[in-house]
Amino acid sequence: ITNCNDEIAKLNTVLYEEYNETLQKEQYKRMMIFRETLPTYKKRVELLNLIKNNQVVLISGETGCGKSTQVPQLILDDALMTKQGANVKIIITQPRRIAASSLAERVASERAQKMGKSVGYAVRLEKVEARARGSMMFCTTGVLLVDLEIDQGLTEYSHVILDEVHERDSNIDFAMCMLKQILEKHIYLEEILEMTNFRLPPENQENPFPNFKPHMKYSRKFRFISERIEKRAKYLSEVDPWLRSIKNKVSPAVFCTLQNSKIEDFNVDLIFELVRYICHGPPGAILIFLPGISEITTLVRIINQNRPYLGSEVAVYPLHSKLPTIDQKKIFDRPPLHIRKIIVATNIAETSITIDDIVYVIDSVKVKYKGLNVEQYLSTLRVEWAAQANLRQRRGRAGRCQPGICYHLVTTFRASKLEVRLRPELQRSDLLDPVLMIKRLRLGKAADALKNVPDPPADMTVNRAIIHLKQCGALDDEEHLTPLGWHLARLPLHPAAGKLVVFGALFGCLDRAASVAAVWSFKDPFIIAIEREEEVKAVKRKLARGEPSDQIAMSEAILQWERCAPHRRHDFSYANFLSSSTIELLSDMKKQIGNNLAQMGFLSSGSLTSTWENRNSENLSLFKAIIAASLYPKIGTAKWINVNTSKLNRQVRVNVRTLEGPVAIHPSSLMTLPKIMNKQKRRAVPIVKLCNNPGANWCVYWLKQKSTDIFVIDVTFVYTLPLLFFGELKVSECEDDPNQCYVSILEYKV
Ligand code: ADP
Repeated sequence: ITNCNDEIAKLNTVLYEEYNETLQKEQYKRMMIFRETLPTYKKRVELLNLIKNNQVVLISGETGCGKSTQVPQLILDDALMTKQGANVKIIITQPRRIAASSLAERVASERAQKMGKSVGYAVRLEKVEARARGSMMFCTTGVLLVDLEIDQGLTEYSHVILDEVHERDSNIDFAMCMLKQILEKHIYLEEILEMTNFRLPPENQENPFPNFKPHMKYSRKFRFISERIEKRAKYLSEVDPWLRSIKNKVSPAVFCTLQNSKIEDFNVDLIFELVRYICHGPPGAILIFLPGISEITTLVRIINQNRPYLGSEVAVYPLHSKLPTIDQKKIFDRPPLHIRKIIVATNIAETSITIDDIVYVIDSVKVKYKGLNVEQYLSTLRVEWAAQANLRQRRGRAGRCQPGICYHLVTTFRASKLEVRLRPELQRSDLLDPVLMIKRLRLGKAADALKNVPDPPADMTVNRAIIHLKQCGALDDEEHLTPLGWHLARLPLHPAAGKLVVFGALFGCLDRAASVAAVWSFKDPFIIAIEREEEVKAVKRKLARGEPSDQIAMSEAILQWERCAPHRRHDFSYANFLSSSTIELLSDMKKQIGNNLAQMGFLSSGSLTSTWENRNSENLSLFKAIIAASLYPKIGTAKWINVNTSKLNRQVRVNVRTLEGPVAIHPSSLMTLPKIMNKQKRRAVPIVKLCNNPGANWCVYWLKQKSTDIFVIDVTFVYTLPLLFFGELKVSECEDDPNQCYVSILEYKV
């Protein structure tokens, strides 16, 4: 311990001297003039006292008051100044990658340093390590959870800062849950240390907390930063929270722009008109919040097509989570002064990023909302009204560096009726990913762990998720991760998509499998061509080469597009009703999937497209079997009824029944023909054009959704054999005929 102390003392002096040198740098001084104007900086003495005297501090402040950039610096600088810098290593989490890296860059520049000295960042597959002591690390909440998996006491860090806790995605909830546990144990540990007069227990005495290193020389602080804190305070009340509110210096002018409630529906033309109006006015970049990627693509196209009417030159940047990081970072570029920057973003731009030239914010007041119908276990993805908390964040993006204006596209009446905030993700998710995360973090039984999160989800959803994960082979009967589940928990994909790429790698049809997994993670590359639906389906059938599988059609479309020479891709997309921009994104996502698999040791040749990894790419029966394996237990029985048996036009009707009841195949499926009206039932019945394998008794599907009917979307028909190998079908003898047997899943028999 003495040696160690000597080393630390030396390091403290080195860091102290280095810090004093930094103080003399011109860039540091320039930045300091700005930092001193920030409300958070002005409160530094009070804040530091709170942090020193309390184990948990909750800080709330208006956007732009300097929470994210200043609080970690205040802690570190205070330690450096008092020659205790070596005792400090701060980890700061952000919900999104772009926020983590851009904040790290901003803070490094405020400290007049290159990234990697006292400031670093870590997001999945990208890391700039800061020095081991006297430093801070910005990362995504997911990275913190991975750290927690390896070191459950987070012993490497002196301070943990959770930023944007009000966002309440499932990772943030888990992080809070884990930190709460650490705090409870740690308080106990401090008591032990006090009793033993701050000495280590003797070597031979068993350490009651193997995950904690009691020789840590700093007291550990946990800090939560949030816009709304009461709830968090309540959640952590056992651990003595301190509340602190900070007001911001500037706020943008805010307008609710609509008079007429009838045009409140998402209206891209209206937004374009507003852009045009702003473009004819004073300079300043524009940030537009739209609900989803398809709305972004539409608006970007409209702006590009109407550039001559905008009155000034513009540079348009889309921004959403599916863009590669390098394209996301382009939003920080500053075009020449005569060009106006327009960023069209999802709510990814809502928190923690400062684009310093933004003057105008246009807010559609809509979000893409992932929901769950608990009774039917149906996932829903709808465009809905954003909540007041979203609006506050969005308008906070304007006027950060100069006076700004925000236009919310709602009536004042509607604005007053918006929810205070959206429901936490854990209450509206199918819980498959969260349960895998619980297992990965070794938090015990999922149902118990989920009772400890701030707003627990419904028991029924938890049970459904556990049964589903058991049936798909990720969990065993004791609810432990199986080897397959271990890998699925580490892939940043839905479990079905994860299983598909793992099986794709093992069975040599990886490129095709990754194409489908990318679609499942993002969206279908086929466009919706109104009144030409039958033509689209004819194209799909051709691409599927006669196989009854929507997944084969989509994978073939992507593979063929990728094989086209770049200058031919546009024509190929046009001829096949495909969206080139969607396939470009899907292609990028496939590369990321390839990197993940390579990192986990799944690619023997190191490449997604290598011959070995794709040796069975053309074996479509095998591919269908793998699709079935991945989608299981999203399975239905198929009953075929002949409608027209002429050899030229074999048509049958298929009745599909899933575990929860009968469903219809979605009309976008390549297997459906134009609806005919069933006279007795007076409802449209799906007619299936049979392909090469009539009589496939089962179907697997990607999604079940309720609109006019309950539909299954993206369907593949399969024979029994693959499901016997890869699913959990039960085989029972047929009493009447010893040569026959029944195959069943739960109560359904064929
Ligand atoms: P908060 O976390 O409270 O919302 P931040 O700490 O992110 O606030 O930012 C505080 C202020 O620092 C902003 O209002 C802005 O003026 C400035 N700032 C932050 N990041 C940048 C940046 N990348 N470029 C220019 N100014 C920035």
